[in-house]
Amino acid sequence: MKNKIYCGFTALALLLLVSCAGVQTRLPVPNSTMLATETGRQETEAFERFLAMRKRLERVSAGVLQANSDLCTKTRNGFGLITHSKKSYPKHLRGAAMRRLGAGDTPTVLFVRGGGPAEMVGIRSGDILLNKDGNSVSAFDDSLRETSTLHIRRFGLDMEMKMEIEPVCNYPVLLKMSGAVNAYANGRTITVTTAMMDFVQTDEELALIIGHELAHNTMKHVRKAIWNTVISGFATRTTRPFESEADYVGLYYMARAGYDLDGVEDFWRRLGVKHPKSIVRAKTHPMTPGRLLSIRLARKEVETKREAGQELLPNYKPGKGTLQAKERHGP
Ligand SMILES: [Zn+2]
Repeated sequence: MKNKIYCGFTALALLLLVSCAGVQTRLPVPNSTMLATETGRQETEAFERFLAMRKRLERVSAGVLQANSDLCTKTRNGFGLITHSKKSYPKHLRGAAMRRLGAGDTPTVLFVRGGGPAEMVGIRSGDILLNKDGNSVSAFDDSLRETSTLHIRRFGLDMEMKMEIEPVCNYPVLLKMSGAVNAYANGRTITVTTAMMDFVQTDEELALIIGHELAHNTMKHVRKAIWNTVISGFATRTTRPFESEADYVGLYYMARAGYDLDGVEDFWRRLGVKHPKSIVRAKTHPMTPGRLLSIRLARKEVETKREAGQELLPNYKPGKGTLQAKERHGP
């Protein structure tokens, strides 16, 4: 009996709680047409924003990957274009990508960089790249790594385009939709997040980030870090020196691409201000004040070499130094 009274009381209390917790005003409800229009507008604007970032990332990264091809062991022929299909986009942007650009399952040319080899021979957005078997492929396909003649299909017609190609470091640069201000390298590719694209204020800062990630790949940091972690079992101490080396070598990569280095290290102050934890404590990376000051010192080193007309190559520890320009050794 006691239980029944208790249960009844609890039910009444819940009922009162629910009635109190309910909304008390009446919000106007849009009709389905209005809702569909606004949904389409937001999706399209989000897609356009993503696309603008993708093009900017391509433009800046192409310069860094090309200028340093003589220092990369992995190279490929660069055409100055990027391809896309609907899978190139995050799932929630695929509808807008299909509506705006007709992105489907077949990779097509999305963007041709001004002044690049593809533009010189008249390759256009919407063209389809073909491999030797006549199948459509993306610009990063391995079968196109060494070719200087692209077979393309345009409005159902197949044609051949022979180009003056430019070698580039073979580390495709990808854009990832993410709210984390981040960029990373895995030994094969470089990824930059949309939040990082928002955070970098200038192309110089973006080139600094791409140079840093490229250095992780060329200096084989992923492999070394994994090995060090395996033998020491402690990732914190082992990754910091690699980060510092990537800051240093990456600055050279950026300089070799012709970017102005003046004040680029201030990126790390802004990042420290945005994420104050990184000013005094960071598990796997050097702290932001140290990074800023080291890059400033390295910048002066690079600028001195530039003014003296010296080759822009990092200084090595005695007995080290595997990063050599290929031209030095002849063909
Ligand atoms: Zn790093």
